[in-house]
Amino acid sequence: MPRPILATVDTAALRHNLARARAAAPDARVWAVVKANAYGHGIERSFEGLRGADGFALLDLAEAQRVRALDWRGPILLLEGCFEARDLELCSRLGLWHVIHCNEQIDMLAAHKTGLPHRVFLKMNSGMNRLGFTPERFRAAWTRLNALPQVGEISLMTHFSDADGPKGISVQLQRFDAAAHDLPGERTLSNSAALLCHGAALASRSDWIRPGIAVYGSAPDFPAHRAAEWGLQPAMTLGSRIIGVQRLEAGDTVGYGSSFTADRPLRIGVVACGYADGYPRHCSTGTPVLVGDVRTRMVGRVSMDMITVDLTPIPDAAMGAEVTLWGRSLGGALLSIDEVAQAAGTVGYELMCAVAQRVPFALDPGSAA
Ligand SMILES: *Cc1c(COP(=O)(O)O)cnc(C)c1O
Repeated sequence: MPRPILATVDTAALRHNLARARAAAPDARVWAVVKANAYGHGIERSFEGLRGADGFALLDLAEAQRVRALDWRGPILLLEGCFEARDLELCSRLGLWHVIHCNEQIDMLAAHKTGLPHRVFLKMNSGMNRLGFTPERFRAAWTRLNALPQVGEISLMTHFSDADGPKGISVQLQRFDAAAHDLPGERTLSNSAALLCHGAALASRSDWIRPGIAVYGSAPDFPAHRAAEWGLQPAMTLGSRIIGVQRLEAGDTVGYGSSFTADRPLRIGVVACGYADGYPRHCSTGTPVLVGDVRTRMVGRVSMDMITVDLTPIPDAAMGAEVTLWGRSLGGALLSIDEVAQAAGTVGYELMCAVAQRVPFALDPGSAA
């Protein structure tokens, strides 16, 4: 028998979350963002659940090839554009749309030989200060692109730094509008947080929306909202089993560094999941875990291959009992990845992207893939 850890991708949840994103901007077309191997879910495994999208957005050219290999004929957008001139050949060959965020990318395009003009997304740096042309330089970039025979349609794009927080989007939105209001072209501004938290304000600039994390069922603004409050369902479940049980007396400790001391007699379950599986080592005593459908807490340190959990609320749990580290138990109980991430001082994004290579994946509860 293989070690009992398993990550499961739920096609129905992906489909549901995609529909939920669409409902937040009913007039927009939807890029399903599948960068980082579909946020760790696997591009091929997620495809069935996401094929109702209008396009796929990602940034690795090899991943774009994998989407085309699934026979996807619709739009694919490279969110960071091309990294070197020969990437443009692949764009021409596979019909990839690409972001233009700097003058070097315009230079490459101007030197590129192509039969079919490219669809490009011109990116404005409206305040995030990672990629894009400043508002002052945006129009000159647009004018340059517009004069190139290699360019067909030009769309306009920006990305918000604080759509999930108190600073909000208004300053960036004003900069974008001031610099771009009279330029033609479709607009794409919204990631998940902007879509869910500011959808109404962005409706007139949402020809395309770009939800990532919401599609995978994690709340972009946790803990202000929980995924369930946004109507999202977990697309990934990380599950395992109890492979050992210990009985502790008051004063006994558990695990490396003896960081947890029992204050009374306790039953402890040892779970086949550790940091080498992608479970965050920064989680400590108190991190929520499901045993069967019952919520309990991790105790002690996360080690490489194991964690230990308090079985007090589940007195009948024995060897082989089902454990859910995040996602949905077989009985339907939910444990949000966002809660586990919070206990580790990080975000759901990181956890789902970091499930380790050694963890086998299955597609949909009950059926191996
Ligand atoms: C990753 C990414 C998104 C998706 O962001 P989420 O927060 O996961 O919704 C949207 N736009 C760009 C440019 C991105 O890089």
